[in-house]
Amino acid sequence: MIIAIDGFSAAGKGTLAQRLADYLNYAYLDTGALYRTVGLKLYENKQNPTDIKAAQKAAFELKEEEILSLQTNPAIRTEEIGTYASKIAPIPEIRQALLEFQRKFAFHPRFKDGTPAPGAVLDGRDIGTVVCPEAKIKLFLKARSEVRATRRLKDLQLRGFYAIYDTVLSDINKRDESDSQRGLSPLKPAPDALVIDTSEMTQDDVFAAAIDFIKGKGFI
Ligand code: C5P
Repeated sequence: MIIAIDGFSAAGKGTLAQRLADYLNYAYLDTGALYRTVGLKLYENKQNPTDIKAAQKAAFELKEEEILSLQTNPAIRTEEIGTYASKIAPIPEIRQALLEFQRKFAFHPRFKDGTPAPGAVLDGRDIGTVVCPEAKIKLFLKARSEVRATRRLKDLQLRGFYAIYDTVLSDINKRDESDSQRGLSPLKPAPDALVIDTSEMTQDDVFAAAIDFIKGKGFI
């Protein structure tokens, strides 16, 4: 059983994905963290995100355990690393290198301790369209960019990062544009996805809408 959650940056994908995974006892993979991890490697090596060869090398050298441990590394959560991730994300070789890992996780999900899980929740930009088009449950989250910037600002501040609203908003707008406009795996809802606008919804509302949808499909 695979649940694919896609959507715009800071629309609430991670929160919903983690909550569904906990509720259903499924394993969770934050695929944005894979792109961020490659971005962080380039950043640390002082390499440019447009350096295709360096980005490719960083992606191919990623080890499974490293990816799983980096998911919770606060260093990948800055807006700067998010922007790096978004710059390397359109490179076909990078997407190909990360695709295999994501599909393996989706079809053989494991919890952090390595034990097999009965299902997987993946969140990202192209899970329902490219990574797991066969997923039975697809959700697509969106929200007004001002709402998302406010949420991201709060999240960054809670993590102890210094951030300014205007910069966060402008980063979000730039990232939306590059994620939606790129030729390869652009951000868009799969035709069979439930699209949820979370602008005026609480986290509980979004979770309830997702559960209703899953119940409606007869999976729980
Ligand atoms: O979701 P998050 O903000 O962590 O993702 C960082 C960047 O990684 C996104 O802006 C996007 O460019 C890229 N990404 C992607 N495909 C995914 C997940 C993330 O292209 N499945």
